[in-house]
Amino acid sequence: MTETSNLHIAVVGGGPGGYAAAFLAADLGLQVTLIDPELNPGGVCLYRGCIPSKALLHVAKLIDESRHAKNWGVDFADPKIDVARLRGWKEGVVKKLTGGLGLLSKQRKVEYVQGRAAFENSNTLRISKTGGADQNLTFDRIILATGSRPAMIPSLSLDSPRVMDSTSALDLSEVPGTLLVIGGGYIGLELGTVYAALGSKVSVVEMLPGLLPGADRDLVLPLHRRVEKIFDSILLNTTVVAIKEESNGIRVTFDGSEVKESEKVFARVLVSVGRKPNSEIAGLEKTQVGVGPRGFVEVNKQMQTSDPTIYAIGDLVGEPMLAHKASHEGRTAVEAIAGHKVAFEPAAIPAVVFTDPEIAWCGLTETQAQKENRDIKVAKFPWAASGRAMTLDRTEGMTKVVLDPHTERVLGVGIVGAGAGELIAEGVLAVEMAAVAKDLALTIHPHPTLSETIMEAAEVSFGTSTDIYRPKKA
Ligand SMILES: Cc1cc2nc3c(=O)[nH]c(=O)nc-3n(C[C@H](O)[C@H](O)[C@H](O)COP(=O)(O)OP(=O)(O)OC[C@H]3O[C@@H](n4cnc5c(N)ncnc54)[C@H](O)[C@@H]3O)c2cc1C
Repeated sequence: MTETSNLHIAVVGGGPGGYAAAFLAADLGLQVTLIDPELNPGGVCLYRGCIPSKALLHVAKLIDESRHAKNWGVDFADPKIDVARLRGWKEGVVKKLTGGLGLLSKQRKVEYVQGRAAFENSNTLRISKTGGADQNLTFDRIILATGSRPAMIPSLSLDSPRVMDSTSALDLSEVPGTLLVIGGGYIGLELGTVYAALGSKVSVVEMLPGLLPGADRDLVLPLHRRVEKIFDSILLNTTVVAIKEESNGIRVTFDGSEVKESEKVFARVLVSVGRKPNSEIAGLEKTQVGVGPRGFVEVNKQMQTSDPTIYAIGDLVGEPMLAHKASHEGRTAVEAIAGHKVAFEPAAIPAVVFTDPEIAWCGLTETQAQKENRDIKVAKFPWAASGRAMTLDRTEGMTKVVLDPHTERVLGVGIVGAGAGELIAEGVLAVEMAAVAKDLALTIHPHPTLSETIMEAAEVSFGTSTDIYRPKKA
């Protein structure tokens, strides 16, 4: 048997799953080769996902706030947007971060190979180096972290620069006069928010009855109300059945009970209908790796596939397709390879929608509890009662805790409001540490902050929130 400290492992894919795995493996003393087509690690998250979208959303928020400032007696002139400089700034952020990861790889002596990997057998990879010859390398263990790509519906794929996916939308080649976002999920809403702030008339079409399907409706409502103001239209229960290029744009045909105009021309269309795992890895059939019906590689709690030498992590292995899930799975896989007793079984994986307001949740949601017929107690604290929310002029938010009605254990937390994405971390800790509502209520939170809304939501569950008056029952 090989000593774990002498193991040579390959990590295929340099996204947040892959580089987190490679770096931990190096920290634990394993020999590591990390393979990815880009110049530096980063994957979708850094090059064409989390980071560029958040950089642009920051600017969108600033533009929006500058317009809103007149309500507070401050008048700014209309912003002049230099798209080339904005693009340059966003690309600068990506370059700095990915360059930093390249440096961290070198410092840790991770062998970074720019190229693509294919399987020769369960231990051997054929690596096609970018600008170089193919090379076969044999490893003791291989971690697959090849991530995912935008899903495309065949009837909506049109070879035109006017039809974008999230990657081309982030390229920001221009700000179109009109933009149709197909899909009311988080990526579509985030990118729609960016383009609306930059000046596009944005419409969103979603085939289901609400935006952000799957999220609790009371969290989505304040966002829906706000985006109704910044978007040109939101078409729910509506399907796009055809798109066709014309000289002045893309003609879109809609179908659905609420459709008023069955055809409309948009300068650009963003197709944002989900993501597909990159499991079509060349030569995978030469291994025993199992792939499920939706294309996800099947793994156990140690992230090991049905081929004992091969592990898989991140978007490649299933929902939620989120960077932080990928990183934690990557670290679990490495620890398992290093012989530690580990399992990937989190009590809560936070989800954040970085719109304005933000929506964030973790652990058990009300929607999920309803589906599973679970008995829960929900306590909500409206931000209209929060001093900090008032000072920010953002009182539309709400914080809720989902509790076990018998033990008061915190099972989930949901937040909608400015900065919800930062606030949710406390909820994740509460769920992971098996906190009860009293723990949150007794934890002294700084004043005036939005974090107090978590403490107050817990107090609401006892009917004793300082800032909410509940008349006594007669
Ligand atoms: C617009 C957008 C916004 C997003 N925002 C967020 C967010 O705010 N928060 C969040 O948590 N998540 C966000 N995500 C999702 C997040 O980007 C993914 O969940 C995350 O990147 C998954 O990480 P991963 O390591 O599994 O794979 P990826 O990041 O997809 O990386 C996989 C890498 O593997 C490489 N690869 C593929 N095949 C091979 C091969 N054969 N050989 C070598 N390399 C290969 C790919 O080129 C890629 O570099 C966003 C995604 C998008 C598109």
